[in-house]
Amino acid sequence: MFRGFIYLLLSIISFSSFAFEFSPQQKKNADKLIAEALKDDLGYQVVESLTTEVGPRLAGTEAETRARRWAVKKLKSLGFKNVRVEHFDVPRWTRGIETAEITSPFPQPLTITALGGSVSTPAQGVEGEIYVVPSLKALQTVKANSLKGKIVFVDETMARTQDGSGYSAAVAKRRETAFEAHRAGASAALIRSVGTSKHRFAHTGQMRRVTDTTGDPSVPTAALSAPDADQLRRILNKTGKVRVKVTLTPRTEPRGKSGNVIAEIPGTQSPKEIVMIGAHLDSWDLGTGAIDDGAGVGIVVAAARLVKEVLGKAPKRTIRVVLFGAEEVGLVGAKEYANKHKEELANHIISAESDFGADVVWQFGSNNVAKDKLDIVKAFQEVLRPLDIIPGSTVAYGGPDVKYIREMGFPVAELKQNGVDYFDLHHTPDDTLDKINIDKLRQNIAAYAAFVYLASDMEETFN
Ligand code: ZN
Ligand code: ZN
Repeated sequence: MFRGFIYLLLSIISFSSFAFEFSPQQKKNADKLIAEALKDDLGYQVVESLTTEVGPRLAGTEAETRARRWAVKKLKSLGFKNVRVEHFDVPRWTRGIETAEITSPFPQPLTITALGGSVSTPAQGVEGEIYVVPSLKALQTVKANSLKGKIVFVDETMARTQDGSGYSAAVAKRRETAFEAHRAGASAALIRSVGTSKHRFAHTGQMRRVTDTTGDPSVPTAALSAPDADQLRRILNKTGKVRVKVTLTPRTEPRGKSGNVIAEIPGTQSPKEIVMIGAHLDSWDLGTGAIDDGAGVGIVVAAARLVKEVLGKAPKRTIRVVLFGAEEVGLVGAKEYANKHKEELANHIISAESDFGADVVWQFGSNNVAKDKLDIVKAFQEVLRPLDIIPGSTVAYGGPDVKYIREMGFPVAELKQNGVDYFDLHHTPDDTLDKINIDKLRQNIAAYAAFVYLASDMEETFN
């Protein structure tokens, strides 16, 4: 009993002596950054500038090249150092004509949009009887070559969730339908949009990328707006037999230019050590890429700059901002970055990406942080608490463009945003600047500024 008490006492003492705390000066600086960020205008100005002066910027196109030029100029003008572009090639897919109509029994137009990477129909389109399945899973059980002349319709809905888990589940349909419909012998495919909007527009997004090695054949595939999917479903329920005509004329050229834009605030004491915060520069072509991912660009650029502006001097470690290219078409920039910086990744103290819209951060999580370093994560959570941010997962995602860094076992942080409305706008013509609330954007900037400052100024590492 007595021994047990002593043991308990010792463990309390040892626990408290090892508990991590930021220095009083670091805490003061973080609080100051948060206060300044909550008045920040730069983040919004950056999104406004990108979405207005560049607009949509599809990977591999001339518009994405203009976005890189815009970024280099903007980052230099804001005083960032070592501003550079790391170029790479991506296939260039561009949208063409996209129309669909019910030809019988009740002729009427349908609102669709081609999925990124879709092949085209003949110029005159394809017409066929609809074969409806409730899910991708159901389509996968359809016998090969049994749907000759038919158009597949995958009528699978997506759940609205705060954490984006509804999307993770639904996105398989967008990735795989074109290939499964081809296997089943169909001539084209339609999916209910991967999204939560009730508006009459369709959500685009990338299909699984066909590489030289997979080379999988597919059929022309488009997303239907939710009301159009409802309409098609109603007519099917009434009549059992619906014919639809679909015309899609996108083009894929083997090579376009893309690139990652990198900018730094060099560290004063340990410049080789890097704290990386990123966002992606490319966007889909339907809107102007404000919430996906102009917001992320504004957040990380403004947060990094605030650290230098507000504190008057750079932290110990280097803060690196990476604006990734070609995220939407398959995380191409993310892979390029991980490959090109392979040798340097061990010096990446921690990395995070902002790519989940412009709503508030509500959780701070981490991944690949050593068990005995989780106290450090707790100290970050303590600093962020006044922003209504609560502790998150220790196996957090961290954002799409840090996927490879995370998979290679390096620490990532996740400043998880509220995604409950994100998929109302995601990959649609409605992804425009007016949807961004500046106060919510400021809360993000405050969280990122405190995080990136403390991670780059503390002595410890996360692994
Ligand atoms: Zn995104
Ligand atoms: Zn996206």
